[in-house]
Amino acid sequence: MNKDIATPLRTRAILEKYGFSFKKSLGQNFLIDTNILKRIVDFAELTEESGAVEIGPGIGALTEQLARSSKKVTAFEIDQRLLPILNETLEPYDNVSIIHSDVLKADLAEVLKEEFPSISDIMVVANLPYYVTTPIIMKILEEKLPVRGIVVMLQKEVADRISAKPGSKEYGSLSIAIQYYTEAETVLIVPKTVFVPQPNVDSAVIRLTMRKEPPVKVTDEEFFFTVTRSSFAQRRKTILNNLVSQLSNGKEKKDIILSALAESGIDPARRGETLSIEEFAVLSEKLLPHFK
Ligand code: SAM
Repeated sequence: MNKDIATPLRTRAILEKYGFSFKKSLGQNFLIDTNILKRIVDFAELTEESGAVEIGPGIGALTEQLARSSKKVTAFEIDQRLLPILNETLEPYDNVSIIHSDVLKADLAEVLKEEFPSISDIMVVANLPYYVTTPIIMKILEEKLPVRGIVVMLQKEVADRISAKPGSKEYGSLSIAIQYYTEAETVLIVPKTVFVPQPNVDSAVIRLTMRKEPPVKVTDEEFFFTVTRSSFAQRRKTILNNLVSQLSNGKEKKDIILSALAESGIDPARRGETLSIEEFAVLSEKLLPHFK
């Protein structure tokens, strides 16, 4: 077995050899703890037949562990300076391909088709750049990519919001958006000391398992998400006041909003954070004919 990339000593040697300086603007906090990396990979439950998609391989610390546990790894890296480094560190693995691209600009469906033509089990596994965690996760979910799930490291605060349940102070439109597509769980809390440089915030690993069917049936997904986002626009406001101020022509349609809430059995004085995803679905169906 090759020597692990992610030991503090080897990482420092690689960075020094290439004179690499971290770019904070690219969320570059590299993992230097092989135990954590192996646990992340374990949560993904990969087999020899699996494909892994990584976002931001850095110097290849996680990529290497994925290469050892799957059939093929395809990784997107935005920072050109890392390409020669990855070329060297991942040289022992012939099942890795690196794509030099901003993952947010990539045509992921097309890349997956090209990279994994004969692989049916695909997981996204990454230590995400923290400045873009939500857009990256939402892109993967909204494009309805053929993946089994997503296991990623991100800010603990975002992990808490993603897996939050109704009634908690972390629960909001992000919890609903992600739980609509997946079953979400925080599986590991990670200390700052396992990164170089150390991030300013605590980190966590979440596992998102794609649902076969959404937990609620809605006629118009876009409108459903508009209603949920609107309901949380100002957390201290009631659901009625948020909908009146956020929905288009909400002020003129206050009576309609009031009747939709009544028909849904929702007290207009409640706050968005107390509504379950099922209640939002019922409400959105009642509002839809009047706003679309
Ligand atoms: N996987 C490595 C590790 O765990 O040590 C590095 C993780 S580091 C938190 C995030 C990586 O994402 C960096 O290598 C950074 O250059 C890369 N990155 C940042 N923004 C990106 C984007 N929009 N598309 C692709 N890669 C990106």
